[in-house]
Amino acid sequence: MARRGLLRRSIYKSPAQLRLMLEPGLATGAALDAMRAVVGAGVTTLELDAIAEQAIRALGGAPNFMLEPGYRHTICANVNEHVVHAIPTDRALVPGDIVALDAGAVVNGWHGDAAFTAVIPDHAYVERTAANQRLSEVTEQAMWRGIARLATASHLNEVGEAVSAYVRANSDYGVLEDYIGHGIGRSMHEDPPVFNVPTRKRGPEVKPGLVVAIEPIISAGGIDTVVEDDDWTVTIADGSMSAQWEHTVAVHDRGIWVLTAADGGASGLEPLGIRPVPFS
Ligand code: MG
Repeated sequence: MARRGLLRRSIYKSPAQLRLMLEPGLATGAALDAMRAVVGAGVTTLELDAIAEQAIRALGGAPNFMLEPGYRHTICANVNEHVVHAIPTDRALVPGDIVALDAGAVVNGWHGDAAFTAVIPDHAYVERTAANQRLSEVTEQAMWRGIARLATASHLNEVGEAVSAYVRANSDYGVLEDYIGHGIGRSMHEDPPVFNVPTRKRGPEVKPGLVVAIEPIISAGGIDTVVEDDDWTVTIADGSMSAQWEHTVAVHDRGIWVLTAADGGASGLEPLGIRPVPFS
């Protein structure tokens, strides 16, 4: 999940607190893996919601999106021009869809938050499939560039420079500015904000104890958004397709570790020359 308003709280966790974030991270990652295994044409987003909830509860967690006032689901399922905070439905996914699946878990009061985008291939309309795959891939790689920058950054807002520089160099896509990443810990949304574009300020120092959700949200067209009548679903105003990728990442005294990936982010970071370092 992403949001604009953020709670104020000390942003640097102790080593003991970082350890408490391992389990919710793994439960969140398991929910994404469970959805990744079954997502495809004919599957409804409500079915994916149930699968994600099961995966989180199997690891002793609870879905944390349900802690947001008025939200009753484990996931947000953002199909096509629905860009963020879309409620799962009984509509089956169809060939040609692009869907961002966002989930989070709370374990013992500590939170994880992550998302990935899936493209449902349409063999009768290969151009659309290829366009959606490209949109998802650029968004995913922008996320990994942002995470990789966190590993070497002195200040947090370098992440947004890396994200937007990658998108700019590889596409004419738009980086949403209305919805951003966030600190995470005893709440899903905490300070500091994590921008996906350059900002005037450098942001807080990147040092051990910082834990952030890095989540670029990218549009194939315009970046203006509207909130639908359900008060949750956010849509790209011009109807363009969109993609979102997200991981929760911890900075500790020996490096960074992607809490919501079973491999700590190695598969995405090692091609960029960054080796995630486990802690326990
Ligand atoms: Mg989030």
